Amino acid sequence: MGFIIIVAIIYFIGYYFSLKAYPFTKCKHCNGRGRFDATGMYSYAFGRCGKCGGTGRKERLGARMFLSKK
Ligand SMILES: [Zn+2]
Repeated sequence: MGFIIIVAIIYFIGYYFSLKAYPFTKCKHCNGRGRFDATGMYSYAFGRCGKCGGTGRKERLGARMFLSKK
């Protein structure tokens, strides 16, 4: 049982530092592209992803504490 707790603590410390360096992840909705291509005869057109607002990125869980300072 104690071993699991130690592994969990190491995992969270690693996650903390990785969040500081990489606060974003790919938007799963548009696969990080930030846009959707139209199909059919308007295939030249594309729309902005509504989930990420066209940025293609998503904040990771807990990333806000590093992003709040601007
Ligand atoms: Zn998106």
